[in-house]
Amino acid sequence: MSDAIRPQPGILDIALYEGGKSHVAGIQNALKLSSNENPFGPSPKAKEAFLRSVHTLHRYPSTDHAGLRHAIAEVHGLDPTRVICGVGSDEIITFLCQAYAGPHTDVVFTEHGFLMYRISALAVGANPVEVPERERTTDVDAILAACTPHTRLVFLANPNNPTGTMIGQADLARLAAGLPAQAILVLDGAYAEYVPGYDAGLALIEERGNVVMTRTFSKIYGLGGLRVGWGYGPKAIIDVLNRIRGPFNLSTTQLETAEAAVRDQDHIARCRADNARWRIWLAEALAEIGVPSDTSMANFILARFSDTEEAEACDLHLQTQGLIVRRVAGYKLPHCLRITIGDEASCRRVAHAISQFK
Ligand code: PMP
Repeated sequence: MSDAIRPQPGILDIALYEGGKSHVAGIQNALKLSSNENPFGPSPKAKEAFLRSVHTLHRYPSTDHAGLRHAIAEVHGLDPTRVICGVGSDEIITFLCQAYAGPHTDVVFTEHGFLMYRISALAVGANPVEVPERERTTDVDAILAACTPHTRLVFLANPNNPTGTMIGQADLARLAAGLPAQAILVLDGAYAEYVPGYDAGLALIEERGNVVMTRTFSKIYGLGGLRVGWGYGPKAIIDVLNRIRGPFNLSTTQLETAEAAVRDQDHIARCRADNARWRIWLAEALAEIGVPSDTSMANFILARFSDTEEAEACDLHLQTQGLIVRRVAGYKLPHCLRITIGDEASCRRVAHAISQFK
């Protein structure tokens, strides 16, 4: 290829994605605990809606997503005109960067924050600004100190991936209030449903004009393969995002399946309760054998080993047992392994395998 053909500056700083392996070669009965998926899958009602959608595949989908937006709004007590739906919350993150960042702007996120923030920032030519954390804990003062007149977006997942930790309402409010006038705080609530009583930043959105939340159907809704997410924020910001959203970004199958899923909150409540029970069990079981983890509020725990070598050796041992967990070196946590909370049998299996290793 000619040397004259080059991507935009910044694009080659994005590493090719290497996570998400779903099998271990040659091992029967492999169990994937590396992508924070719901072991129970989606609501049976969502599966029925998925199958029903086959009858309308010759039609283009709804362009305004009215059915799904209204269902989300009803369940969460929101204004449906301020909900935007996308191909995973990844697409909402992309829209935010496309609409509000660009060359000569800064996009701020934390050192152990979700990888898509950096990728989406680089993809639009913005400058990714990584804020150091204190012992894997989000430091609001450090985020505020990193903001400049160039800052357009501040991304914060709460609970955070891959640490599972949360920052409280008072700190969130302090962060939103302290940002420069031109910056938007994006509260990524991919794991918000796992936290009983957490409003995912809703009160803050209503109070201020500079806060947006993102949510997903990939985690507690058990629909990672479907690719649906949504965002909520001030009308003016959502209107801007809708201008760059392709009219047919979501298929009829995606829209109708997600709508049925969000209407079945009993399924969500059962998944939340089961996750909490086995997350606590697994964290305690690992702590007893000398593998500590931070207090996670999500559907995974971040197991800490004494060093990178030990974490790698444990990962290899788990692979020989058919257990796939996530190395988090890309998140600057090379001495840790992130383990998704599966069902009871999966948690017992992974605890047993780690105890053999130790
Ligand atoms: N935010 C966080 C913090 C995540 O962990 C993930 C998924 N790993 C996402 C957003 C993206 O989720 P999706 O695009 O599947 O909605």
